[in-house]
Amino acid sequence: ERLARRDAPLTPGMLADGTAIPLLANLANADGAANAVALGAEGVGLFRTEFLFLDSATAPSVEVQQQKYELMLREFAGKKVVVRALDAGADKPLAFLNDAVEENPALGLRGLRSLRASEGILRDQLTALAQADAATDADLWVMAPMVATVEETAYFVALAHELGLTTAGVMIEIPSAALLADRVLAQADFASIGTNDLTQYTLAADRMLGSVAAYQDPWHPAVLSLIRQVGSAGAALGKPVGVCGEAAADPMLAVVLVGLGVTSLSMSASALADVRASLAGYTLDAARSLAEVALDAVGAPEARAAVAEAAARLS
Ligand code: PEP
Ligand code: MG
Repeated sequence: ERLARRDAPLTPGMLADGTAIPLLANLANADGAANAVALGAEGVGLFRTEFLFLDSATAPSVEVQQQKYELMLREFAGKKVVVRALDAGADKPLAFLNDAVEENPALGLRGLRSLRASEGILRDQLTALAQADAATDADLWVMAPMVATVEETAYFVALAHELGLTTAGVMIEIPSAALLADRVLAQADFASIGTNDLTQYTLAADRMLGSVAAYQDPWHPAVLSLIRQVGSAGAALGKPVGVCGEAAADPMLAVVLVGLGVTSLSMSASALADVRASLAGYTLDAARSLAEVALDAVGAPEARAAVAEAAARLS
């Protein structure tokens, strides 16, 4: 009966005043695609390609990659699919990209840094994506993980364009990139904020370490302030700014993110229904006022409590 209930067409993500906020799914392979679509995903906001190759000892060929990417793209004909270039690193080691032993892997050669150190692998992936894009009807966007500088942004976007991908952007997961979001976005077609890593790096607390788990809270006003910088830069330049970290799956925080200038939200498919329902309860003006309340708090628990109280007064 769960499926029957889902038969009614799901409305796209939308605020109470009609402002569209596309709701997208985070996926690691095509297996989850049908379920995500059934739950109303309007596309894919984060395709974590590194999960396809966690067991590979050697770099996958262009042909093998193209085939896997096409499987995903075929599930989303006519829809947006944001593909992340291989994000090898601390929590997601890839034998063929980063086998160095580092004392602080979260601060090491990871994400775009390791792709750039093995540029042939990056070129192969972008080539496979361009070929998969040409062979299918999805709207493919590509983005780089763990970008720290404007120069890295320009490097990645130029390479993606050169290899035939029309829409190229970066993930904002490092405070330096958020602080210079205007200059980063000037070089990119879009940005997507990874709140898991952005929180880890802002609070200087390893996201894998249970003893500091309390710091890993995207409600922290320092994190929200960085997100606002990215949202404001996106609005000024007319470029999309998504969120694809866990924060997007929190129904109340999703409203705050929109109030900070975020234009789309991507999450695990199971969270889509609650976030869709929450967004429908607030206008853009209300979301902006809740964002101000959160930004003014002294810490994460205070922000959460103050927004809950202000939201109750609004409704
Ligand atoms: C993030 O850091 O928020 C993110 C979406 O990427 P991942 O969780 O895969 O590092
Ligand atoms: Mg990340």
